[in-house]
Amino acid sequence: MTEAPRWKLVVDQRVCHSSGVCVAMADGRFELTATGSRPVSDEIPPDEDVIDAAECCPVQAIRVLDAATGAAIVPEPL
Ligand code: SF4
Repeated sequence: MTEAPRWKLVVDQRVCHSSGVCVAMADGRFELTATGSRPVSDEIPPDEDVIDAAECCPVQAIRVLDAATGAAIVPEPL
């Protein structure tokens, strides 16, 4: 049996400026803290809203990775 894919979310709080875009776009996936956005869960099932949020982050602070391999899903590898 093949395991269901999982995604790992990473927010670079050095560049996040707490715009709240990701919180609004991906319901329940991100939360704002005193130091910026953070994932509610480090690993999630695949969720297109998270892709949209990562692509719309004004400072490209969000990375979405394949949890099993660490391969980048967003930003897409060159
Ligand atoms: S969209 Fe980007 S800058 Fe805005 S809160 Fe989320 S991670 Fe931070």
